[in-house]
Amino acid sequence: MKEPDGLKKVLLIDHIEGQCRCIIGFKDGDAREAYMCGEPVYQRRGKKLSSWCVYHYGQMHTTAAQQSKERDQSAEIPQEISIVRNP
Ligand SMILES: [Zn+2]
Repeated sequence: MKEPDGLKKVLLIDHIEGQCRCIIGFKDGDAREAYMCGEPVYQRRGKKLSSWCVYHYGQMHTTAAQQSKERDQSAEIPQEISIVRNP
Protein backbone atom coordinates (compact mmCIF):
# COMPACT_ATOMS: atom_id res chain seq x y z
CA MET A 1 0.00 0.00 0.00
CA LYS A 2 1.44 3.31 -1.08
CA GLU A 3 1.62 6.13 1.41
CA PRO A 4 -0.58 9.09 0.43
CA ASP A 5 1.48 11.90 -1.07
CA GLY A 6 -0.11 14.44 1.27
CA LEU A 7 -1.63 16.48 -1.54
CA LYS A 8 -5.07 16.12 0.03
CA LYS A 9 -3.97 17.09 3.49
CA VAL A 10 -6.38 19.32 5.34
CA LEU A 11 -6.09 21.44 8.41
CA LEU A 12 -7.95 20.18 11.45
CA ILE A 13 -10.46 23.03 11.21
CA ASP A 14 -11.13 22.25 7.55
CA HIS A 15 -11.63 18.54 8.10
CA ILE A 16 -14.95 17.19 6.95
CA GLU A 17 -16.67 13.84 7.32
CA GLY A 18 -15.31 11.25 4.94
CA GLN A 19 -11.71 12.42 5.08
CA CYS A 20 -8.97 10.45 6.78
CA ARG A 21 -8.31 11.74 10.27
CA CYS A 22 -4.74 10.58 10.57
CA ILE A 23 -2.54 13.47 11.65
CA ILE A 24 0.41 13.69 9.31
CA GLY A 25 2.00 16.89 10.45
CA PHE A 26 1.58 20.37 11.79
CA LYS A 27 1.44 23.69 10.04
CA ASP A 28 4.58 25.60 10.98
CA GLY A 29 5.12 23.04 13.74
CA ASP A 30 2.13 24.40 15.63
CA ALA A 31 0.38 21.64 17.57
CA ARG A 32 -2.92 23.51 17.38
CA GLU A 33 -2.80 23.46 13.59
CA ALA A 34 -2.64 19.81 12.76
CA TYR A 35 -2.72 18.57 9.21
CA MET A 36 -4.82 15.51 8.62
CA CYS A 37 -4.29 13.06 5.81
CA GLY A 38 -7.51 14.07 4.03
CA GLU A 39 -7.68 11.07 1.71
CA PRO A 40 -11.15 9.61 1.21
CA VAL A 41 -11.86 7.16 4.03
CA TYR A 42 -11.86 3.46 3.57
CA GLN A 43 -15.28 1.92 3.45
CA ARG A 44 -16.33 -1.65 3.34
CA ARG A 45 -19.75 -2.59 2.19
CA GLY A 46 -22.15 -2.88 5.07
CA LYS A 47 -19.62 -1.53 7.54
CA LYS A 48 -19.63 1.73 9.39
CA LEU A 49 -17.60 4.43 7.72
CA SER A 50 -14.02 4.26 8.90
CA SER A 51 -12.09 7.30 10.06
CA TRP A 52 -9.06 6.32 8.04
CA CYS A 53 -8.08 6.01 4.40
CA VAL A 54 -7.05 2.63 3.04
CA TYR A 55 -3.40 3.27 3.80
CA HIS A 56 -3.79 4.35 7.40
CA TYR A 57 -6.52 1.81 8.03
CA GLY A 58 -4.18 -0.90 6.82
CA GLN A 59 -1.33 0.45 8.90
CA MET A 60 -3.32 0.33 12.11
CA HIS A 61 -4.78 -3.06 11.45
CA THR A 62 -1.47 -4.54 10.42
CA THR A 63 0.06 -3.48 13.71
CA ALA A 64 -2.85 -4.92 15.68
CA ALA A 65 -2.74 -8.15 13.69
CA GLN A 66 0.98 -8.53 14.24
CA GLN A 67 0.60 -8.05 17.95
CA SER A 68 -2.12 -10.64 18.27
CA LYS A 69 -0.08 -13.03 16.13
CA GLU A 70 2.83 -12.66 18.51
CA ARG A 71 0.55 -13.35 21.45
CA ASP A 72 -0.78 -16.46 19.75
CA GLN A 73 2.68 -17.73 19.06
CA SER A 74 3.83 -17.35 22.63
CA ALA A 75 0.74 -19.21 23.77
CA GLU A 76 1.57 -22.03 21.41
CA ILE A 77 4.87 -22.98 22.91
CA PRO A 78 4.73 -26.72 23.09
CA GLN A 79 4.68 -28.04 26.55
CA GLU A 80 6.86 -30.87 27.61
CA ILE A 81 4.97 -34.01 27.63
CA SER A 82 6.22 -36.50 30.11
CA ILE A 83 5.59 -39.99 29.00
CA VAL A 84 5.24 -42.39 31.82
CA ARG A 85 6.24 -45.82 30.76
CA ASN A 86 5.34 -48.77 32.78
CA PRO A 87 8.20 -51.21 32.96
ZN1 LIG B 1 -4.86 8.55 5.67
